[in-house]
Parts: sequence; structure tokens; C-alpha cells
Amino acid sequence: MSEDRKKDSPEQADFRVHCRSWLSNHVQKDPTTRLPQSAIEIMHTNQMDYLRDWQGKAYEAGLIGCDYPVAEGGGGLNDCQIIANQEMQGADKPFLPNILGLGMAAPTIHFHGQQGIKEGLLPRLFSCEDVWCQGFSEPGAGSDLANVQTFAEKKGDKWVINGHKVWTSLAHFADWMILLLRTDKSDKYDGLSYFVVPIKSELGKTVEVRPLIKITGETGFNEVFFENLEVPEDNLLEGLGKGWQVAQTTLLHERGAGPMVTPSSGGGNSKDDNHVGGAYSLINLAKNSPRNGRTAADDPVMRDKIMEMIIRQEGSKQGARRARIEALCDHPMRIPLQSKLVMSEIRQDCGALAMEIEGARSTLYINDDNAPVGGEWPLAYMNSYGVTIAAGTSEIQRNIMGERVLGMAKSK
Ligand SMILES: Cc1cc2nc3c(=O)[nH]c(=O)nc-3n(C[C@H](O)[C@H](O)[C@H](O)COP(=O)(O)OP(=O)(O)OC[C@H]3O[C@@H](n4cnc5c(N)ncnc54)[C@H](O)[C@@H]3O)c2cc1C
Repeated sequence: MSEDRKKDSPEQADFRVHCRSWLSNHVQKDPTTRLPQSAIEIMHTNQMDYLRDWQGKAYEAGLIGCDYPVAEGGGGLNDCQIIANQEMQGADKPFLPNILGLGMAAPTIHFHGQQGIKEGLLPRLFSCEDVWCQGFSEPGAGSDLANVQTFAEKKGDKWVINGHKVWTSLAHFADWMILLLRTDKSDKYDGLSYFVVPIKSELGKTVEVRPLIKITGETGFNEVFFENLEVPEDNLLEGLGKGWQVAQTTLLHERGAGPMVTPSSGGGNSKDDNHVGGAYSLINLAKNSPRNGRTAADDPVMRDKIMEMIIRQEGSKQGARRARIEALCDHPMRIPLQSKLVMSEIRQDCGALAMEIEGARSTLYINDDNAPVGGEWPLAYMNSYGVTIAAGTSEIQRNIMGERVLGMAKSK
């Protein structure tokens, strides 16, 4: 019996049986198109349609939103999302596309939305009928998030929004956005408010989404412009001037430290370790990479470097176990912040090592028939840089850990 199963409550044990049985009986047909490496790189409608179908089926089977109340479209269970996640990862299924909705919008709406908003929005978010995006960053507000300048002004019974967001992942598919903006220019923090806004229905009218093309050639994120977008009062979460407080819930969940566990179908477990990007997949890459008449796997220096990556990855995965040790959990962000920081840096180093193993062949990219592993490794390497920036840069994560977790003096 695995470590995970030994610790299951009776409710979790029953639920695990249900998940395992559904996952083994459900056959998800193969995609007819190449899928991207993660949700924030979905570019084409046929990729989104395939993944949306998968998320919808997993939701119908009860594997998504398990711990949310039934009235909000959830399963009404206790601590069962973690079980669904473990089983989905072990079953090696496609990833869930609505990650910003599931990971950030859903918990924020759950904790801060009025009942009508929760009941109206959450079931469609879980099923992926509505895709969500996060409108936080602006050209002058990234690490200094409280500096956002997008503005909402009250006119009659509506709020009228004007401004410009940037790096908005999935906005090109999004129906809805969680939006942090300013309602008062005189107070940096208390002048912020938090809205949920429909964007797809306003495209070409009061909302414009412009794709940003990355070094990889993909268009995962966008600029979003608002020109007199009108939203009703009900879409304001928690009330006027409470935006910073509500945003903390979003950020806590974005960094993996919130009370609602995010449904996840990818990464972190044995089968996923063999996917491009993970340390174990470097072994096969080395075995299939020619080097001085032999293979890179025959080179002891290379073998040593691969082992070092595997050890770092395995060490980081112990975070889940360490999270169960009370003495290490004096601060709720200690382990999640560490995990994001360490895993994102491991991913970058795995990518760099893959480039070294492939040698000159690392210049062959996706769509090149001669590229090793379909050219996925150079793509993973370039995308790995975004992971150390998104959800708070590594420098900011270190600052937060130093100041809030370790109690060190605040940086200037
Ligand atoms: C792949 C990807 C997806 C993203 N998706 C979204 C999204 O969906 N929605 C959204 O709102 N945003 C999104 N972002 C934006 C992301 O949140 C910001 O890029 C990030 O917060 C950094 O902000 P910035 O780019 O403005 O950099 P800046 O804040 O300008 O930082 C520039 C550099 O200065 C450093 N720095 C800044 N302040 C300090 C400090 N106090 N101490 C030490 N170093 C500092 C930073 O670490 C960084 O290296 C995404 C970013 C990426 C890469």
C-alpha cells in the first residue's frame, strides 16, 4: 500500500476507489493535434476543444471541485481534491486547461463572492464551459502589484472600466476575468477593488485582446485593453476598496498555499517524471543522443549531471511529506513558496542540461522531423524561464520568504 493510501480517511479511501475506477474505465481518445506542454501555451481552438472536453468529463465524474459545496457546483466532500489529483497524475491523463479559473478564480469567488455569483459562475468554471483569465499585471505593475492603474468609475448603477493589462495568460480563450483595479487614486492599497468581469461577450466592443508572441513562437499570453466596459455592482467582490484583501486570497492560492486545493492533472508524480521537462526523461534523451561514437549516456560526466538533477527533483518532491510535519509548518507559506522556487529552478536546469545532451541537435525545433523528441526539449527550455517569473519572480519569492517566513528585515 502506498504512503498516500495509508493516510486516507474512510471518506478519502472510498473516493480514491471511485477515482481509480473511473480513470481506468474512461478512455480519452488521442488528440488529433499536437498538444502544448502546459495550459498557458494553448494557442489553437482544436487544442482547447480537446482539453475542454477532458476537463468537462473529469468534472462530471466528480474529480474536479470535489471539496466545494454542492450549491456551488462542487462535490461537497472533505479533503478529497488531493486524492483526485494523485489519481489523475498517476493515470497519466491530459492536463486541465482552465488552470487560472481552477487555481485562482474559483477559491477567490468561493471566499469572497455573493451566493448568486458563486452559484452562477463556479459550475461553468469547473466544467470548463467558461474559461477564466487573471487580469492583475500591468506595464507598471508586476512585482509592485498594488501599483495597478486600470480604473473603475461608478456611473449610475454600473461600474465603467478603462485601462490596460498585460501578460494575461489564456485571455484569447477567456470568457471571464478576475480583475484587480483602482477605484480611488489617492490611496495605494485601500484604493484597490476586485471585480469578476465577462470579457468574451465584449470582444471588439469595449474589450480588446492582443496576443503577445514569445521567444518560442507561441502566443500564450496577451495584452488586454478596456474602453468603457460596464459591469454591474454585483460583480464587485467584498465591496469597494477591498481589492488588496481579496487579491491576497488569489495570490495565496496561486502560490499553492491556500486552503482550497487546486485540481491538477499534471506534474509531480512518477509517470509525469518521464515527460519532457522532468529529470527522469533526461535518461532516455541521453541514451538516444550520439556522442563521440557512443551515446551521451555512456559519458560518466553526463551520467553524474543527470543523477544530480534526479536527486534535486526527488528532494523537492519530499515537500509534500515535509508539509505534514507540524514543526516545519509554523508559517503556511514556508513549504509552498519553497516548492515553487525550487521546482521552477530545477525545471530550468533540466532544460539547460537537455540542451547540453542534445548538443548541436538542440537547434532543431518543433515541426522538424530530425529534431530529437520532436523538438520538445528546446521549447521546454525556453518556456522554463517564464516559470521563474510567473506567480511572483524568484527574487520576490525569496524576499517574501526572508521577510514573512524567516522574519528578516524588510528589503528597501
Ligand atoms: C509565463 C507567464 C505568465 C503570466 N501570466 C499572467 C497572468 O495570467 N496574469 C497576470 O496578471 N500576470 C501574468 N504574468 C505576469 C507576472 O505576474 C509578472 O511578470 C511578474 O509578477 C513580474 O512582474 P514584471 O514582469 O512587471 O517584472 P518587474 O516587477 O518589473 O520585475 C523586473 C525584475 O526586477 C526584479 N524585482 C522587482 N522588484 C524587486 C524587489 N523588490 N526585490 C528584488 N527584485 C525585484 C524582479 O524579480 C525581476 O527580475 C505572467 C508572467 C509570465 C512570465
